[in-house]
Parts: sequence; C-alpha cells; structure tokens
Amino acid sequence: MIVTRFAPSPTGFLHIGGLRTALFSYLWARKNNGKFLLRIEDTDLARNSEAAAKAILEAFEWVKMECDGAIEYQSKRFDIYAQYIRRLIDRGEAYYCYMTKEELDALRNEQQKRGERPRYDGRYRDGALPPRNGVNPVVRIKAPQSGTIAFEDGIKGRVEFNANQLDDFIIARSDKTPTYNFVVAIDDRMTGVTDVIRGDDHLSNTPKQIAIYRAFGWDIPKFYHVPMILNAEGGKLSKRDGATDVMEYKKAGYLPDALLNFLVRLGWSYGDQEIFSREELLRLFDPSQINGSASIFNASKLLWVNHEYIRALSDDRLIAALKEDFDLDLSGFENRSKLLELCKEKARTLEILAQEAKKFVLRPTSYNEKDLALVTSQSLAIVSKFLDFAEDKKNKRGAIEEFLKAENLTTPQLGKPLRIALFGEATGASLDVSLEILGVREAKIRINLLKERIE
Ligand code: GLU
Repeated sequence: MIVTRFAPSPTGFLHIGGLRTALFSYLWARKNNGKFLLRIEDTDLARNSEAAAKAILEAFEWVKMECDGAIEYQSKRFDIYAQYIRRLIDRGEAYYCYMTKEELDALRNEQQKRGERPRYDGRYRDGALPPRNGVNPVVRIKAPQSGTIAFEDGIKGRVEFNANQLDDFIIARSDKTPTYNFVVAIDDRMTGVTDVIRGDDHLSNTPKQIAIYRAFGWDIPKFYHVPMILNAEGGKLSKRDGATDVMEYKKAGYLPDALLNFLVRLGWSYGDQEIFSREELLRLFDPSQINGSASIFNASKLLWVNHEYIRALSDDRLIAALKEDFDLDLSGFENRSKLLELCKEKARTLEILAQEAKKFVLRPTSYNEKDLALVTSQSLAIVSKFLDFAEDKKNKRGAIEEFLKAENLTTPQLGKPLRIALFGEATGASLDVSLEILGVREAKIRINLLKERIE
C-alpha cells in the first residue's frame, strides 16, 4: 500500500508551494487507494505557533484534501523519540559525545584555517574518549565513513552523496531533545510512509535520514524531491509574486478546485490539457512524471483557470460561495440566474463577480462625479420616456432600437444617463441585459433616485 504524508512545520501559514507538495502526495495516495497522512512538525517549540498549525488545517479544509487517520503532532512524541535514541545507542550505532561548545568552536576554527569544511572529527566514537563529568552529552549517530549514500529519486533519478559529506551528526541535543532529521525519519518509518514527496530544498537532509534508516536496519522509502516554484523572473517566489497564505486566495475569490488545478500543472502535465477534474487527476497523476526543473508561477494563468472554474460552477454553489465570502446573498434576487450568467462571463474571481453583482442587487448610493456632469433634466426626461415605452415590451433590445429610431437619438444619448441611473456610472453591462435583469420597475426607482440627487 502506498502511504504518503505532508509534514508542515507550523512556523507560518500554508503557502502555495506547500499546498502543491501536499496535493501531489494526496493524489498519489488516493490514486493507489493508499493513505495520505498529515503530520505537524512542531518540535521547534520556539518557532512554532499553534495559530499557524490551525491555519494550516483550515487551509486543508478549504481545499477539501482530507487526510487519513489522526493528525500527528511531533511535540507529543518526545517519549517515543527518546526510546529510539536509546535503541540506537544500545545497538552501538550512536554514542554520547562530551565535547563542549568551546572545543567544537576550536575544532571548527582549525579546520577552516586548513581550508577544510567543518565537521565533527569522531573523537568520542567507539569509546575513544571516556565520559566526562559535568558535561551533558549530545548523542551522535555513526554515519558511514566511506563510500556513498545513494538513492533512486522518483523525479531526479539517481542521487549520490559522498560519505565524507556527512559527519557523525547529532541526533539528540544535550537537553535530550531529538533533532529534526531524526524525528522525520522515525515518524516516516513508524507511520509506514512508503513515498516521501517533498520540496527539493530538503534534498540535503535526505542522506542524513538515510543514515538513520540504515543505522536501524530499515529499508528506505521512495523519495520524490519536487523542484521549486519560481517567479516570472526566475527568482525565489515572494509574497508579491503570490507566495502568500493559501487562505488569501480564498479571500481574493479563487475557487479551491481552480487553485489545485493550477498548482498541479506547476511541474506536472498531461499532454497539453489544462483543466482537470479531480477524478481525472486521480486517474492520471504520477509523481514520477513531475518535471525535473523548476516551474514558473504565472498569476494570469491562475486567473484564467479560476475563470474556467467560475464559468462551470452551478448557480447554487456560486450563490453559496458569494454568501460565505463576499457578504452577498442572491438567494432572494428574482433574476439571479440571468445575473450570474452575465457576471460569470466577465469575472475571473468571485471578488470581482460579487462587485459586479452588487451593482444589480444594491441601488447606487453614490455616483461618479464626472459622469454625473453628463446628466441633464433633458436626458433624464429621455430616459423616463424610454422606460415608459419599454415597460410592456418583452424584447428589450428591440425596444431600445425602436425607441432610438423613433426619437432620432444615438445610443449614448440614452445609454449614458440610463447607466448612470442604474449603476452610478456611465459604463457597464449592456443595456438590454441590464434591463432584463433589473426589470423596468426597478429601473424607474433608480431614475427617481438620480432625479432626487440632481435636484
Ligand atoms: N517540515 C518540513 C517543512 O515544512 C517538511 C519535512 C519533510 O517533508 O520531510 O518544510
């Protein structure tokens, strides 16, 4: 059975890079009827916050990526890690090291002077030096001293590290707390993770984790190191480029499925297909097809994908989303489906859609000052006459044409004052559709409001 996991450190919000890695893990597990686990890596008590952990879970809920089993918190597992440290010491695969900070600094200085890379020299390995009183020892693992540490990465192919790139690194600090790579390896093993899909910023951790697996005599999982997402200039994705909290996308009117669809395509493709239902993704996704080079974040593509999803959304779901996030309740609006049809075509986010729809639902409370200067009592009289004329005509477009011809008027002579009355500004949706959605009765009310404003 394939078991994957997403293991965020709750030092901040879930950003889109994290969400993409999680999505890859989620799809791969679901595709194989396996398990997708969620683990909160909160051992760094100083840097972690409970609020961040909560925000991460909230984002998962929003995108509806449910995980299997209980969410694990590393901060609750210190006893377990201590047992495994003990076990490695008993197996002779790890040992206490009593070097002081001053001694370590001196060693590092000497090595740097000689132009060498600083590394622990193994002086307490195999009991070469006796324990020391008054020093709380760290625990170091016996890393391989020669040869290579190699593995077959599902994306990068064969990855090899020379053993001399590792030293006997610390697995438990002098205060007995376990170190990062140790707990990751223990947890992945204990929870039965078979496939580790993570950002390739973790690639340098992998040989250490493999050394831990080997020390226990365990088989290593399959690793997939996913290349980063870069900005359009090829640099690190920053907040300005869109590397923000996933929940900011909700606030800005993106649909969760659209965001996931966009993210899956950053690094993975299936021919030139752009839009995938979740069922299709579950059928088609395979992490070994993830591109080996970095992908570029393209904000206008995300808007395009979002628009495709907005267009395809049912009225009921659209109404529910607008109510939840944009304080707009269309459920009592008579011509809501016509209104949505109009807005869907134009709006690439729900935020913009809500703004457009509100122009119909709410009467204008203010008017564009420049446009207002175009309105005269004469133009208002034209509009009123037109509304009387159009009242019982079903075909509003025909009515407009007929009226303009009969009165010998140009379209703007009617359209501008009418739009200002309806929406507070001279530009906007087409007149006939606007009238069909609002109805002539409502249009007359808005004309009277404008009249009051002018007088
Ligand atoms: N906790 C790590 C992070 O948030 C991920 C570790 C892993 O996936 O192995 O970057």
